[in-house]
Amino acid sequence: MKPLIEVENVGKSYRIGDTSVPVLEHISFTVNAGESIAIVGPSGSGKSTLLAMMAGIDSVSNGVIRVGGHLITGLTESQLAAVRARLMGFVFQSYRLIPSLTALENVMLPLELLKTQNPEAQAIIALESIGLGNRLNHYPSQLSGGEQQRVAIARAIVHGPQVIFADEPTGNLDSTTGEKVRTLLFKKAKETQSALVLVTHDPAIAARSDRQIRIQDGRLADH
Ligand code: ADP
Ligand code: MG
Repeated sequence: MKPLIEVENVGKSYRIGDTSVPVLEHISFTVNAGESIAIVGPSGSGKSTLLAMMAGIDSVSNGVIRVGGHLITGLTESQLAAVRARLMGFVFQSYRLIPSLTALENVMLPLELLKTQNPEAQAIIALESIGLGNRLNHYPSQLSGGEQQRVAIARAIVHGPQVIFADEPTGNLDSTTGEKVRTLLFKKAKETQSALVLVTHDPAIAARSDRQIRIQDGRLADH
């Protein structure tokens, strides 16, 4: 079976004034459907950049990326938006919920984008399944960090994506709350049979993943 995600010889440089500063070079790996993979490495090594390129949020300087058979590096913005909406879910360190929307409305968003029937009922089920059935009408500012991240997880999984991208999902949480969020994220990815691609400093997340890849000096370290 073809891998769900193929990263082929990807590079990224940033232009700073007249010079091109390389961040990543010759990165190649694959992720299979349903697999969890942790991207680890020192701060500033390009982990978030790599994740953003895989999700089509950031452009590549070299190489190609395919997700679910789509050439992510060759799509227009509107094609990318459609692929993202259907195939991907996102969890960020800083939660990134929409502050003017309630927990329920935040979780309904991906379903509304896809014009799914009865988004409210499905979003309620997703929030109840992560223990937030009693927080449906709370705004993000009325929720704790751990609760906000759980809402973000509900939003990431509610439409049954093929891959969940998570960038330091426990980075803002204390260890007890982090453990709850970590457990939930892996449990939900398994239930929805989504692949999970995580960027993390958290050794417990890395240990729990099926596989780790390490970025060192702009390249994949031998593993
Ligand atoms: P990590 O997530 O591993 O901590 P990042 O992917 O955020 O690292 O950043 C990798 C490197 O790329 C850093 O040196 C950072 O300064 C640089 N970088 C990230 N975004 C930009 C940008 N928009 N312009 C220039 N340099 C950037
Ligand atoms: Mg980062």
